[in-house]
Amino acid sequence: MQPIHPTTPTGLHHLTAIAGNPQTNVDFYTGVLGLRLIKKTVNFDDPSAYHLYYGDETGSPGSIITFFYWPGHDARGRTGPGQTTAIVLSAPAASLDYWQQRLASLSIAATRRNRFGEEVLAFADPDGIPVEIVAVTGDPRTGWQHHAAIPAAHALRGLHTAELTVRSATRTEQLLTTVMGCRLVRREGTRARFTSAHSETSGSYIDIIADASAAPGAGGSGTIHHIAFSVPDDDTQLLLQKALHVAGYSVSEVRDRNYFHSIYYREPGGILFEIATATPGFAIDESPATLGTALKLPTQFERARSQIERLLPPLHPSNQE
Ligand code: ZN
Repeated sequence: MQPIHPTTPTGLHHLTAIAGNPQTNVDFYTGVLGLRLIKKTVNFDDPSAYHLYYGDETGSPGSIITFFYWPGHDARGRTGPGQTTAIVLSAPAASLDYWQQRLASLSIAATRRNRFGEEVLAFADPDGIPVEIVAVTGDPRTGWQHHAAIPAAHALRGLHTAELTVRSATRTEQLLTTVMGCRLVRREGTRARFTSAHSETSGSYIDIIADASAAPGAGGSGTIHHIAFSVPDDDTQLLLQKALHVAGYSVSEVRDRNYFHSIYYREPGGILFEIATATPGFAIDESPATLGTALKLPTQFERARSQIERLLPPLHPSNQE
C-alpha cells in the first residue's frame, strides 16, 4: 500500500458533456434517469447558452453531471481516444432488472454485459453519448430520492467510474499512480481500473482503456468535454497545482466556478482533467429545497439578466418527474 498523500484527489467530482438540445437533455437526465436538476445557470464563457447541473439531493461531489450547449455551433463530435468515453452510473445491485425494464418501456435500447464481475447495462443518451448503469453492491450513497416515477430504492447513486480512453495508456497510468495518488485495482483485457488513494468505493474509480486503433475523439455535441476530480478545499487544490507544475504539467490558474473552484490540465493522452473543490457547493445561491428551479447567474452577469433570459430558450421540468 502506498501512503495516502494529503494533496491527492479523494474521488470523482463531476463530468461535463456537450448536448444538442437543453429540453431533450432535461427530459432524459431528470425524466428518464431520475437525477435532480441541481443548478440552472449559463456557460460562464458564453452566457447565451445554458449550463445545466444534475446530481443527488445536494449535488455531492461524485454525483454531478453537467451539460453545456453550443447553440449555433452544433457540430457533432466523435467519441474516441483522448476523451472520457462514457457516463458510468452506480445503481444498487438488485436494481438492474428494474432499470432494464424501465429503459425498455421507454423504447431505449440497452445491452447487458459483465465487467470486473459487475453487471452493466449499456445504452446511449439522446445525443449518442454512451451511458452505463452498473449494479454495485454496498454503495452507501442515496442519490435523488424524490423522483415521482422511480422508487427511492432504485435511484441512481452517482458516478461509478471515470472511463478514459487513450491511444497508449503508459503515461496516463503513470500520472494516476504518481501525482494523482491512485492505485491499480485490477486489469481486464485492455482496461485497467484505478482507485483514489483515499478510498476504494463507487465514485472513486478511474478506468483507463488503451485503444490505438479507433479514430481519435473529436470535441462537439454528443461527447464528454472533461472529467473533474474532487479535493476537499482550496489549500489542497493549491498544493496539487504546485505538484502538477513540478511534474511538468501545464496547469491553469484557479478559476471561480461559483459552486467550486477549479484548475485544469491535459493528461498525456489528451484528456482534459479538472481538479474541483468540494466547497462551497450548490446551496451558495439558492436554498437546498429549491435547487435548480431558478436561473442563477454569476455576479458579473446579473446586470445583463433580462437580455440573457431573452436569449435562452424556455426550459420546462420534465413531465416524467
Ligand atoms: Zn468541470
